Amino acid sequence: MTRSKLLLFFAFPPSLFLLIGVSAFAQAVPSKEVDRAYPDAHSLYLDLHENPELSGHETQTAAKLAARLRSLGYDVTEHVDNTGIVALLKNGAGPTIMLRTELDALPVEEKTGLPYASKVHAKDDGGHDVPVMHACGHDLHMASLLGTAEIMVHTKTTWHGTLMLVGQPAEETINGADGMIRDGLFTRLPKPDVAVALHVGNEHAAGMVGVVGGVYDTNADSLRITIYGKGGHGSAPHKGVDPIVIAARTILSLQTIVSREVKPGEMAVITVGYIRAGTKNNIIPDDAEMGLTVRTFKQDVRKQILAAIERITKAESAAGNAPREPKIEHYESTDSVYNDPALAEHLRAPLEAALGKDNVVTEEPHTGSEDFSFYVEQGVPGFYFSLGGADPAKFAEAKTTGVSLPSNHSSLFAPDVEPALRTGIIAEVAVLRNLLNMSPEELRKITTTPRP
Ligand SMILES: [Zn+2]
Ligand SMILES: [Zn+2]
Repeated sequence: MTRSKLLLFFAFPPSLFLLIGVSAFAQAVPSKEVDRAYPDAHSLYLDLHENPELSGHETQTAAKLAARLRSLGYDVTEHVDNTGIVALLKNGAGPTIMLRTELDALPVEEKTGLPYASKVHAKDDGGHDVPVMHACGHDLHMASLLGTAEIMVHTKTTWHGTLMLVGQPAEETINGADGMIRDGLFTRLPKPDVAVALHVGNEHAAGMVGVVGGVYDTNADSLRITIYGKGGHGSAPHKGVDPIVIAARTILSLQTIVSREVKPGEMAVITVGYIRAGTKNNIIPDDAEMGLTVRTFKQDVRKQILAAIERITKAESAAGNAPREPKIEHYESTDSVYNDPALAEHLRAPLEAALGKDNVVTEEPHTGSEDFSFYVEQGVPGFYFSLGGADPAKFAEAKTTGVSLPSNHSSLFAPDVEPALRTGIIAEVAVLRNLLNMSPEELRKITTTPRP
């Protein structure tokens, strides 16, 4: 008999237990627990949504979350690498389980028309004035974490061990997790036995979660390429070397990597997201800059693509008679998020018990990326799952019409807050309670699958 069953046995005599039946027991997170925690979580959501902060600048966001967790009784450490926070709740012997939320928002102008829409503008790292919006749903993750924190602190008889809540800055720039680790996340503070996180999106209706074992999303590489030419008057192209023409040819040649070089069927994306060159119609500029994102599932495909980009970019500059080789900067990089397959399979049961079997779906790996992979690279088995954010009626309509709902990072992204937030809280509590009813040894037995 597990500890939780033993407690239930004393709380409810056997005859009453039979009357209550299996359904009450199977419901791992009673709705009264969620009802009690929901108002605080929802009010934090509204506040964060209206007051978003850019990556690396999450000062007020971190302070608000830290204050709420401290008032619940968590031992909170702030400024783990700038704005990162860690809240610990020790509850006897047992494993340490980490739950992570991101803190940051995006330079996007909100166009949802919601009464609590963001009107915030801020200076980005380049000094430009930009609009700011929680267009990736990290506000919902923080609110869910707060609701979960509140339930866990009020139900300490249902679990044992150490709960470690992490508020991570700068996920959108893929350097927050790395920064926290470098600042001692797993040395100054406990190194967890398992790390858990979720992400909201419109791929599922609110009320549902998506689970995948193994690769959850893609390797991501960000490249900045500068192509050098020789500037001059727009009326005298023969006296210069036009970097805009070289850049244009380079962009088109890069498209052949996925279509002609990568084996058909392998996941591979190369997107040139921006090109900047020139100031005036009759001036040939000295150089042209472009920014690329590269996404892959497999390491060998990733290496093949990065090598091909370098080869083609240099060759096009040479073909265009550029005065020098292009500069290729590989300025951001993250591995795909890898879910320990056995752990993901194990956690399906508590999620199904809490949400209903039909509300837990197996999904395909995503094409997005995440720096949650940095925790996994530290040897911490990870479980990262998807939270449905779409209004169920709109989701059904989108399926019928084939017109997809706004994706994360869209100025129109707006989760159906109440069902999504409630489901996030229920799912997190169900997963944490399950893991925090095991011993570290039992956990090690189900998390030993090495990454291929
Ligand atoms: Zn995002
Ligand atoms: Zn995100």
